[in-house]
Amino acid sequence: MATIGFIGLGNMGAPMAANLVKAGSHVRGFDLAAASRDASARDGVQIVASARSALEDAEVVITMLPGGEQVLSVWDDIISAARQGTLFIDCSTIDVASARKAHALAAARGIATLDAPVSGGVGGARAATLTFMVGGSAHAFARGKPVLERMGKRIVHCGEAGNGQAAKICNNLILGASMIAVSEAFVLGEKLGLSHQALFDVASASSGQCWSLTSYCPVPGPVPTSPANNDYKAGFTAALMLKDLKLAAAAADSVGARTALGAHAAEIYQSFAERGEAAKDFSAIINFVRAQLEKC
Ligand code: NAD
Repeated sequence: MATIGFIGLGNMGAPMAANLVKAGSHVRGFDLAAASRDASARDGVQIVASARSALEDAEVVITMLPGGEQVLSVWDDIISAARQGTLFIDCSTIDVASARKAHALAAARGIATLDAPVSGGVGGARAATLTFMVGGSAHAFARGKPVLERMGKRIVHCGEAGNGQAAKICNNLILGASMIAVSEAFVLGEKLGLSHQALFDVASASSGQCWSLTSYCPVPGPVPTSPANNDYKAGFTAALMLKDLKLAAAAADSVGARTALGAHAAEIYQSFAERGEAAKDFSAIINFVRAQLEKC
């Protein structure tokens, strides 16, 4: 398979790049952090000296970076060195406005692009079972899909430039708010003398059913694989949830929409993070909910 440039070999980028290597691609990788470079070299990624040199001979360039600022800065730095015909795919979670700016930056030079944020976390990245939410032209999507299929199992074309990021933040608004709602229900159940298992058995088979309950239950016991059974070791950190809820709030502001529950969920995760819990799994929000209820 084609040569792929991969920039950003962190918690997500490293296993994604490793899966491309396993699938037979030649991957030229770069990261600012030496530890990330060393780990990816052990996975068979050819480590190069700069983001620009990751581009050499690459038909596809993938970025997996912390935020919009880094994506715009890296794309701005390297896009002028890209050959015509190179496809740029950004898999980071960033604000919709920056995603559209990045697409425009590349379009001005005739370079095809996709925004393709992911859901599924580090586990999904390792197992190559990520869901990709993709924005960009149908032509760019047709070119990028076979590459994304080597790192994920569900690849959804959401429409034009930026729509992948729009889908990602809308999904995570549901996730952030629903985790708080499930947590409130368990804490209320505790106060009312209801066992965790009884509430789970009812709600998981009733209209309260949702992913935050059935796949990622915030109390230990009912779902043995959920982080609650492992002292809320992340998974998906409260810091990343807060980041995504802030992106959703910014997107809502940009179109004059009011997302009251999303905004309130962001405030709750903000308070949780300020108590020094940002690195915990986001489902640990139940401990914050419980502490708040006990104060009343
Ligand atoms: P991370 O911090 O582990 O990795 C980011 C990597 O980018 C780091 O290794 C950092 O050194 C590197 N980097 C930063 N600036 C750079 C630059 N200018 N040039 C080259 N490398 C640079 O973060 P992560 O958990 O891998 O997340 C990456 C993206 O994926 C984020 O946008 C995040 O919101 C999103 N995401 C993360 C998860 C998750 O569970 N971790 C899930 C879904 C989406």
